[in-house]
Amino acid sequence: MKVLVGVKRVVDAYVKIRVRGDGSGVDTANAKMSMNPFDEVALEAAVRLQESGVVTEVLAVSVGPASAHEQLRTALAMGATRALHVAADPALEPLAVAHTLQGICDREAPDLVLLGKQAIDDDCNQTGQMLAALQGWAQATSVSGLELDAGGASVTREIDGGLEHLALRLPAVVSVDLRLNDPRHPKLPDIMKAKRAQIETLTLEELGVDPEPRLSVLEVTEPPRREPGVRVSTVGELVERLRNEAGVLS
Ligand code: AMP
Repeated sequence: MKVLVGVKRVVDAYVKIRVRGDGSGVDTANAKMSMNPFDEVALEAAVRLQESGVVTEVLAVSVGPASAHEQLRTALAMGATRALHVAADPALEPLAVAHTLQGICDREAPDLVLLGKQAIDDDCNQTGQMLAALQGWAQATSVSGLELDAGGASVTREIDGGLEHLALRLPAVVSVDLRLNDPRHPKLPDIMKAKRAQIETLTLEELGVDPEPRLSVLEVTEPPRREPGVRVSTVGELVERLRNEAGVLS
């Protein structure tokens, strides 16, 4: 079985981001970039399925600038069999990424596409659902448990008030939640080997994808600054302040 994993290059989760002076977006100049954390989980799941013998090939795909090679090399060091880069700069919207992945699915015929639940830069949570709709494939989102066999995939989703178990026919698109696993840290020899590995490339034209944006960003702003908190010394003072200052008690 073949698994395709989407790997997006995003600003590292621990970087405190700054909004550009003109409000047109987030300033990524000199910011540390990493693999989207949800995609690390998706990749770890695919590699574990490969190690257990259920999966024979893990194809890591990144759509973005040439610098996305860095995240693809991390994917190879973590255990992906192949890496494929589709050049796209500036970044594409989820619909265009879904069309790009559709073109790759047509060429590669994966049994399963594993994506992150969301990319932490745009927080869209759309690409997997759009890809499943374009392909007419089964889908499960926000998955925290995954088993695969020749008959299909069994997944667990955390929903309000409990767990939902679904059986999916393959091919399918599954987007994963952070609770699915703890991704491994690649070992130094694997990192060195990945530095020399070949990364395949495709263009949007080869895949027939229209990169034209459908959305326009009106303005990006910092969240309002939070006022500092107040320490109270007694419960009585707390109640008094809640009633007379905050106005939340009558
Ligand atoms: P989003 O819909 O943007 O929140 O992204 C959901 C998931 O789709 C991500 O976690 C990735 O697995 C995949 N994805 C989104 N954009 C890209 C991209 N440019 N390259 C590869 N995978 C992507």
